[in-house]
Amino acid sequence: MDRKKTKNGSRTTAHAKRELLKIDGRTVEIILRANPRARRYIVKVDPSTGEVFVVAPSSRSLDRALDFARKERSWIADRLADIPVPVPLAIGAPILLRGVEHIVRLGERAPGEARRGPVWIDRDAARPTIRVSGSPEHAPRRVLDWLKKEAKSRIDENVVHYAQIVGMRPKRITIRDTSSRWGSCSSTRSLSFSWRLIMAPPFVLDYVVAHEICHLREMNHGPRFWRLCESLVPNMEKPQSWLSDNGAWLHRYAPRRAVM
Ligand SMILES: [Zn+2]
Repeated sequence: MDRKKTKNGSRTTAHAKRELLKIDGRTVEIILRANPRARRYIVKVDPSTGEVFVVAPSSRSLDRALDFARKERSWIADRLADIPVPVPLAIGAPILLRGVEHIVRLGERAPGEARRGPVWIDRDAARPTIRVSGSPEHAPRRVLDWLKKEAKSRIDENVVHYAQIVGMRPKRITIRDTSSRWGSCSSTRSLSFSWRLIMAPPFVLDYVVAHEICHLREMNHGPRFWRLCESLVPNMEKPQSWLSDNGAWLHRYAPRRAVM
């Protein structure tokens, strides 16, 4: 799934305006736009931000666009219900780490431990807890950096492990925040992975790494590729179905774009 870019200005022009509409008990902002190429009214819901647009055939017809949205309320409500509520990595947020929900809490490192970084797992807490030191407003950035580092080290470990079995070495490994792919392998033997994999259970991350390592040998999804993959990760249907069932939910944490 590709997430298309949308303009997010809040100005009103001759060709666009914003109106509020009550849908299912909540107030939803509707962005009304004129597009002379449109033959009729079209309503759209951005699947990653929940922005609702109505495209009207002309500026003059903008006034009636809201009526059109009103008629499509239940369709809009259904689309909005499918969009995961974004979770910032702030203090108090429940976030996933290796498939286990952790709560983010403020904390201070014991004297002498400060050098080990501002984020750590609190082994003494009653429930899985990630501690972050410093001021609360810096917590999201710190937790995000820490998750990326955790992802990198787990991915590196796996790369070394599987690359040895397959007898191939990647040129480099990058950690990204990709919207549609969990991992990729280029023809120049560069691997890249989404940091969000660290939130999934370990068997999922392991599978994605093994999958990309197999592409170092087989740059396709043919029978030889899958045989090799199966030999590294028996029962790969399990991680595959985990990703198709839950993958989209990993994007609700630390959303790439702020929701309006
Ligand atoms: Zn593949």
